[in-house]
Amino acid sequence: MQRKLAAGNWKMNGDVQALSMLDTLAQAHNKAQTDILICPPAHLLSQAVARAAPGPVNIGGQNCHHAASGAHTGDISAGMLRETGATAVILGHSERREAYHESDADVRAKATAAQNAGLLPLVCLGESLAERDAGEALAVIRGQLQGSVPENSTGDTLVIAYEPIWAIGTGKIPSMAQIAEVHACLRNDLREMLGDTGASVRLLYGGSVKASNAAEIFALPHVDGALVGGASLTAEDFSPIITALAHS
Ligand code: PEP
Repeated sequence: MQRKLAAGNWKMNGDVQALSMLDTLAQAHNKAQTDILICPPAHLLSQAVARAAPGPVNIGGQNCHHAASGAHTGDISAGMLRETGATAVILGHSERREAYHESDADVRAKATAAQNAGLLPLVCLGESLAERDAGEALAVIRGQLQGSVPENSTGDTLVIAYEPIWAIGTGKIPSMAQIAEVHACLRNDLREMLGDTGASVRLLYGGSVKASNAAEIFALPHVDGALVGGASLTAEDFSPIITALAHS
């Protein structure tokens, strides 16, 4: 049985001063029953690792290249992320799928590289508002899952984050029934794709998670944690979400 996971995506935010929140989280969640992950921008990774270890907060990247090395200006490989001390990486975030046209095949190649480098990939997927309104949400999400997950993934080597694009940074969230429907569908598909180990792949919900809605979301079946953007930038906002997860 995997521990639940509260993951924070800082995106292109944060500076050296902001890393002080790692100390606050470590003090508040010293005996945490949940896994905690903070993914700051790449320039902060080594300092974040040094500040967080040893302690309850793990550090991850926000993207990696699928190749191990080479002529890829501006990119970072999974092995390089691992060398900073990072233990995980967010992949296929909708902002990257949109801005850099990352396809499911790209995400799968990156996730495979991450697994091979000893990083835990958090593979993101989710529908647009137009797809939701057209009744295509489940079909879109299932297609992304099929296309983005590396073969032979297990509950130890894969995390999936369901992030409806229209809920990211907007303050809107799906109904609890909609989240539950998607997570149940993902769980079924993971079992079919990976066998028994598909039952232990953690399924995170992401999109405008806050202290005020966290407990309700975490009470849903097959919600094993959250991927949090804006509310992961300060300990004041993120700590109550970790607490809600620990109590779920
Ligand atoms: C995200 O970008 O992954 C995210 C979930 O953002 P927010 O929590 O700010 O909606």
